[in-house]
Amino acid sequence: MQSDPMDIKDLIRTIPDYPKPGIMFRDITTLLNDARGFRCTVDQLVQLNVVSEIDIVAGIEARGFILGGAVAHQLGKPFVPIRKKGKLPGETIGVEYALEYGTDTVEMHIDAVTEGQCVLVVDDLIATGGTAEAAIKLVRQAGGKVIAASFVIDLPDIGGRKKLEDMGVEVQTLCEFEGD
Ligand code: AMP
Repeated sequence: MQSDPMDIKDLIRTIPDYPKPGIMFRDITTLLNDARGFRCTVDQLVQLNVVSEIDIVAGIEARGFILGGAVAHQLGKPFVPIRKKGKLPGETIGVEYALEYGTDTVEMHIDAVTEGQCVLVVDDLIATGGTAEAAIKLVRQAGGKVIAASFVIDLPDIGGRKKLEDMGVEVQTLCEFEGD
């Protein structure tokens, strides 16, 4: 059963000053907590990719697991988790990326993506694009080809979309919030 189109933006809650002063946190738990909203979100992400040649859906920890897992299920494709450093039990490859203060690393199992596989990367939100950029580099390091990067939310004033497009990746987003 497919959901009716609806404005999922209305179901996303904004929490000011989380996790620190000045940040407007776009909280998708309220969207996930609405059965129609969750279904509609997943349906829209699936619709954008149903005709593409995708071998694997890769979700970025942690909210990308919830969305990416559902998208993979619906597309009938496998799911691969891209996790923060030290969380995966097997042999991994990693890519470091810059944060406002310091660095972070995303990792993936070394055998999760093989040469030439087409990968859809999924997360809840794109801000600077730093996290997704690292995830894309990770997939490419494994020999995979990133077909598109899908997000529920774009923060267009921050400019992450352009960063990914400059890498030659199609960026898909379902709604936008002004500001940062
Ligand atoms: P970035 O690497 O700057 O594109 O940040 C994207 C990641 O940080 C995603 O995994 C988001 O879940 C999280 N994130 C960044 N900014 C926000 C925000 N304003 N509200 C909610 N999540 C955010």
